[in-house]
Formats: sequence, C-alpha cells, structure tokens
Amino acid sequence: MLKERIFEEIDRQKERLCEMADTIFDHPECDGEEMMAADLLCGYLAENGFSVERPIAGLKSAFRAMYHSVGNGAEGSGRMAEPPAGPAEPPAGPAEPPAGLAANPGGPAEPPAGLAANPSGPAPRIGLLCEYDALAGLGHGCGHHMQGPACLGAAVALKNCCRDRAFTLVVYGTPAEETFGGKINMMEAGYLKDIDVALMMHGGPDTCTDIRCLALSSFDVTFYGKKAHAAIMPEEGRSAFDALLLAFQGVEFLREHVRDDVRMHYTVKTLPGPENVVPSEAVGSFALRSFSRDYLDQVAERFRDIVRGAALMAGVTCEIAEKPALANKVPNLTLNDLLVENARLAGAPGITPPRERTGSTDFGNVMHELPGSCIRVKFVPSGTSSHSKDYVEAGKTEAAHSCVIYGAKAMAGASLDMLTDCKIMESIKREFAEKRELYR
Ligand SMILES: [Zn+2]
Ligand SMILES: [Zn+2]
Repeated sequence: MLKERIFEEIDRQKERLCEMADTIFDHPECDGEEMMAADLLCGYLAENGFSVERPIAGLKSAFRAMYHSVGNGAEGSGRMAEPPAGPAEPPAGPAEPPAGLAANPGGPAEPPAGLAANPSGPAPRIGLLCEYDALAGLGHGCGHHMQGPACLGAAVALKNCCRDRAFTLVVYGTPAEETFGGKINMMEAGYLKDIDVALMMHGGPDTCTDIRCLALSSFDVTFYGKKAHAAIMPEEGRSAFDALLLAFQGVEFLREHVRDDVRMHYTVKTLPGPENVVPSEAVGSFALRSFSRDYLDQVAERFRDIVRGAALMAGVTCEIAEKPALANKVPNLTLNDLLVENARLAGAPGITPPRERTGSTDFGNVMHELPGSCIRVKFVPSGTSSHSKDYVEAGKTEAAHSCVIYGAKAMAGASLDMLTDCKIMESIKREFAEKRELYR
C-alpha cells in the first residue's frame, strides 16, 4: 500500500529530521531573524531535489521550495513546467495596497486566491507551511522547531513515493508568526496563493484541529498633552494619561455592546512619569478580537471613535498606530477530518475533538483566502499551556521527536488522499467556497 510506503519513507528520515528539530531548538531565533533555521531547512530541501527561492517577500528568512511531479514515473523537477516569474500568482492588477489588505484581509479587492489561481487544474498543488520562530527570552516555547522538519519529512516522502502522479508540492517557510506575522507580508507579495490547500502541523497538549481562530486588530495609541506642575500650575496642564484612562474606560463601556465573541484587552505601554507632573505623553496598547474579521472591522471603527473622544475630553491629541491585522480562519472540516484520520492511522497519541478556545495567528490570513488546516500533535501532557517552560522542557524529548514524525505522516497521508481521489479536493474547495461567505 502506497501510504505505508510513504510512512516508511518518513520513518527512514527520522534521524535527520529530529536532528534538524533539535538544532533549531538549540538555536532559537525570533522575529524574522531565523536565518539558521531557514538555512538548515532549505539545505535539506535542495539536497532532495526541491528548487528553493530565498529570500522572498522581502523577508530574509522566508522561502518557497517547489517540486513538480510530471506523473509519468520519471524523476520530476524542482521547476514548474512553466516556471513562474517571482510569485507564482502575482496579485491581479496593480500592487496591492498593503495597508488595505492588512486592515481588511479578504476584502472585496482580493479574489478567492486559492480557487481563482487554480480552477480545478488537473495537477493538485499541495502547500506545506512551516514556522520556525522562537519566543524572545523563552526559546522554543511554542514548539515551532518541529514544524519545518515535519513538513520536510512529508514533502520528501511524497516526492519519492508518488512519481506516477502529477502534482506540485510547495513548502513555504514562514517567519515571525509570534511577532509581525510573516505570512501577512508573504500574501501581500503574492505568495501562498499558488497552492490549492495549505497544510500545517503544530505541537500541542492534544492531537486535534481547530475549527476557528480569532481575528485580531491591535493598536498602539499615543496621547500628547501639555506638561505642567501638578500642584503649582495644574490649570496649564493637559494630561495625556487622563486621556489614556478615559480610553480604557470607554473600552469597558464598549464591551457591553458588542457580540459575545469579541475580546478586548489593553495595557499601559509607556508610563507617564511622576505624580507631581501632568504627563504630556502616554502610550497604551490595545487588542481587539472576534471570530469575524468583518465584524471586528466595525468594532475597530468604534474603538477609534473612543480614542478620539478620550482625546477630546482630556484636551489632548492622539495618534493611533495600527499593527498588521490578523484574519479569522474559514474552517474546512473536510480537511480537518482528513488530517485527523491520517494522524490516527499514523498512531498519534491523545486524539481529541477540535479545540474550543483558540487565539489568533497569521495562518488565519492564509485560511481566510484558501482552504487550509493545521493538525496539532500531542507532545506535552493535556492541559499544558503553550508559551511556557513546560513546552521548552519537552522540546527535545522522545515525545517531541515522535511529534515531528506524526505531524509529517498526518500531512503526507492527507496529501496522498487528495492526490489519489480528486473528489476529496473538490469537496474541500466546495466547502471553502460555501463557508467563506459565512466566516468573513
Ligand atoms: Zn505561539
Ligand atoms: Zn505556535
């Protein structure tokens, strides 16, 4: 059976894959500076016949590695039949407005890329996405060191075992998930749109998928007032900190009049100074989340009014700096089931129903535009929270090494199912088209 051969081919690579995971773990890199990890992963892909492009999308640690199988049993090539110039599917029309897309991913200007880019083409294009960034001060507390090796194991096994099928494999290296969200930049530059489906794996306390994730809008707000001695000349002062407190209060009142799924949190970013001086500058950070990007855009507009209103009340001015926005996932249960079934077939431990509580991720921006799914694979005890010392302590254990292999097998098995039965790919695309309208 072909799937067994693919699983064996993944097992054959285990030592190299786990070595890579350990090396990435031992040299944690963050925030788009993941050069060693990208070197390591790209080296293995090139060695195994993938054509590697790097850097891409203006990110030095981002890469795209491709393999095109012609399907006649012959050795395929790292090149597409018609090599794409730059991004395989450049954004239609003029350059995309970066701010517009960031503020409103999946807005009307953007066609449903995954589908539009490859209308029921005969050769499926499977995307495997990996992250490899760590957390500053903590190391690999989110388990991202396992993702690259898992994708590589799956990609090389599919390439070596499926020469009688026509398909394209694209492995994307996506930097800085924890900070600025490299996938956002990559999508804006036209990448991640040359694939029919996007698959990921992620270590976790249970083996499961997610049905949804929260869209996120985050802001740094600076208020500018007028400094004065708080005891001698208070009437001359205009307090930037008063405005910040009023903005916090405004968010509390807003909280009552939004949908249940909206989350809003804030903190003081820059402290304004001693209590006997009316502060002339205060900076706060705010995050707003919802399962709907469209709805969150409306909440964000009301939030901006609150900030402007707070400035007006305090007699100060304000500056609102919005960070790149994250979109919610359009869930794809067909793809979820396919990954979980294959994880089960591979023997992954601790399979549970999809997670109820989820955060925000730049993979949401990808899954807002094309069918995708991430299989989370158990390597720590149930209930363990990510971004923790527990994750770091488990990073090089036998459970972590097995997690790489289970993740690789789940993604490779699901990919093989899609290559074998074109009805599966059709139903994945159909589900995406239907759900896209419901989960905007
Ligand atoms: Zn994380
Ligand atoms: Zn993570």
